[in-house]
Amino acid sequence: MAKKQTKGWDYSPALESTSHVELKKRYDLYINGEWVKPASKKYFKTINPATEEVLAEVAHANDEDVDRAVKAARKAYTDVWSKTSPSERAKYIYRIARLMQERSREFAVIESLDAGKVIRESRDIDVPLACNHFFYNAGWADKLEYAFPNRTIAPLGVAGQIIPWNFPLLMAAWKIAPALATGNCIVLKPAETTPLTALKLAEIIHDSGLPPGVVNIVTGYGDTGAAIVNHEDVDKIAFTGSTGVGKIIQNAIAGTSKKATLELGGKSANIIMDDAPLDQAVEGIVNGIFFNQGHVCCAGSRLFIQEGVYDKVIEKLKHRMNSLIVGNPLDKNTDIGAINSKEQLDIINGYLKIGQAEGAEMYQSPCDLPETGFYCRPTLFMNVAQSSRLVQEEIFGPVLAIQTFRTVDEVIQKANNTPFGLAAGVWTDKGSRIFNLTTKLRAGVVWANTFNKFDPASPFGGYKESGFGREGGLHGLEGYLKMN
Ligand code: ADP
Repeated sequence: MAKKQTKGWDYSPALESTSHVELKKRYDLYINGEWVKPASKKYFKTINPATEEVLAEVAHANDEDVDRAVKAARKAYTDVWSKTSPSERAKYIYRIARLMQERSREFAVIESLDAGKVIRESRDIDVPLACNHFFYNAGWADKLEYAFPNRTIAPLGVAGQIIPWNFPLLMAAWKIAPALATGNCIVLKPAETTPLTALKLAEIIHDSGLPPGVVNIVTGYGDTGAAIVNHEDVDKIAFTGSTGVGKIIQNAIAGTSKKATLELGGKSANIIMDDAPLDQAVEGIVNGIFFNQGHVCCAGSRLFIQEGVYDKVIEKLKHRMNSLIVGNPLDKNTDIGAINSKEQLDIINGYLKIGQAEGAEMYQSPCDLPETGFYCRPTLFMNVAQSSRLVQEEIFGPVLAIQTFRTVDEVIQKANNTPFGLAAGVWTDKGSRIFNLTTKLRAGVVWANTFNKFDPASPFGGYKESGFGREGGLHGLEGYLKMN
């Protein structure tokens, strides 16, 4: 049994100071350029999953609140934003990006507090990448006619955007930046467990001088999301979240004129061929599944190892896992932070039981876990059957299902055999093998000798139950335009 850490954090010099990050006790809704109280009169608590402490209370928007936000967005679109020149739009977006950069430390700390993700990741990946989405899309705002030559393009109007809790700020940026660049107005709802950085972004948007109503941020639960989806004056729904909710949204908008992009779940394969650079591949496996506690839609949650290198890979993988530190997200030495919520931890623990009941061999790194907060040890399951729920279902946690294979055809067949098709990774020394596999894997993104690499210029999206439409790059902009 691993030891438990003592209660309370050790404030070592490695710890990111939270002293000058100010959180309000209560957050209202950001509608029409103002902070307004919810008509629902309801607030919910957002907690720090690393300590279970309440961080703030946040407004729970109801149908009336969403209606107010959509009306504000429509009016801003008709009266102001549709008459704002593309180069002016670009200036606002650049300004938002620069203001975010100026306050990047604050964003990083708040993200780690609210989401449980490690500060190294918030600071070095999420926040800079979120800024880059604004910079990248700002650059396109006044060049769209060159991007889509011989087409007549126009914004859609009002975009409803619903985002998940795994990359709260990054998802907000990923949704807002292309919608603004293409001339749309926005009603965005962050996830209920991680609303704080989207609300901080609302402050930045306000400071940027963006005309009131162009971006509205409404907080709440699934009912708030449903109110956005069902509002008759919303032209487009951009959703990132679970496949279950994606299906509900798809049904809700069927038969309406609303457009949609749905970025849903995944069960992505990481494939290690026998000629792969093994140390590099093991780093890629670890990053692929344990990055962000495995709360990644494209996490490399299935590992396929070619038989000849199986023992070596498992040995190296266990060794590397044993060096991972699980704990306080604000400590710069921590590798794996807190699971985002108690609910998600229960789901993950449920899968650990399923794996054991199915007879798969479980290995967990023997690290210490803090006493309070929601934590899970990095976990491997070996000898997992293709039909296992560990292979077929998204767990969204630090749990890796491992299978072996002999031939390329066999691994392609197994890798493609789940309901999902978001991403895959291939590790090999031979370019011809990379080409062969990448063309046959049914996944929206295939990485070769790397994993979890993102860039605002690359399109991202899935096959099958992983959703449809692409976000990022020009494809992402196209999703917010009418074209003739
Ligand atoms: P996750 O597994 O990431 O929690 P969800 O799909 O449950 O994924 O949540 C993603 C986002 O969708 C959240 O902002 C959540 O509040 C919202 N949501 C949940 N249910 C609905 C619904 N029925 N309609 C619209 N949005 C919803």
